[in-house]
Amino acid sequence: MVEKHVTPDDAIRKLEFLPQHDDISLASRVFYFGCIVAAGVLLVVNVVRIQEVLDVFPLWLPFVALAGMVAADFVSGLVHWTADTWGRISMPILGRRFLHPFRVHHVNPHDFLRRRVLETNGDTAMLVTPFLALTLFIPLGTLGPLVAAVFLTALCSVVLPTNQVHQWAHMPNPPGMVKPLQNFGIILSRQAHGRHHSPPHVHNYCIALGWCNATLTAVDFWRRLEQLVSSTTGIEPRADEARFVSESEELMNRRIMGRQCDA
Ligand SMILES: [Zn+2]
Ligand SMILES: [Zn+2]
Repeated sequence: MVEKHVTPDDAIRKLEFLPQHDDISLASRVFYFGCIVAAGVLLVVNVVRIQEVLDVFPLWLPFVALAGMVAADFVSGLVHWTADTWGRISMPILGRRFLHPFRVHHVNPHDFLRRRVLETNGDTAMLVTPFLALTLFIPLGTLGPLVAAVFLTALCSVVLPTNQVHQWAHMPNPPGMVKPLQNFGIILSRQAHGRHHSPPHVHNYCIALGWCNATLTAVDFWRRLEQLVSSTTGIEPRADEARFVSESEELMNRRIMGRQCDA
């Protein structure tokens, strides 16, 4: 088969006809705005509350905070792997709302850059807000609950900007200080996340910081977990993703041909 040379025009046309993220309503924007403000305020209140009970800086604190951040990165990978690997976008509510963005993101990653601050950060803010609110009810008088409060606050502080960090990893020119943070591996880098975007999209699921990716890859964690789920449930991993990719290609080709016929 002769490879057809892809011109810039072809590439732009393909982007135009690929599946895109759903636009969100004004009500959803207002709701997301409320969630982001609530999460930000609760995060600050939790930090101040912890600080107030500490007479001296305890040695354990950075280790517990670090453990919370690592846990957040792992959770981002677990959620991402679950959404990429299992379920169908035809499932009621969850399918369109939760799984569809993951399917679109693999087929048309460029569309993620079209999403603005509220759309990018609203879902994670909605998720962490109840956890941050509950953390406020943890009594800080004894060591155990204080450690739990530090762990949860650190975890939520990393989960909250996960999608923002992910979007920065897609930007050719991210803002200000982001590039040095990416280059030093403090947050997810463009290069590390690029590995996830090479088909069949089975590496580097952690997108909050990217710290867990190397270790999880080294122990083949996600494939082992997949085998365990498949052998107990009989469900084939990424079956819905394969269907979505082939249907998207078909639809795109039909739309391009339709445009060519109209011209
Ligand atoms: Zn993915
Ligand atoms: Zn991505």
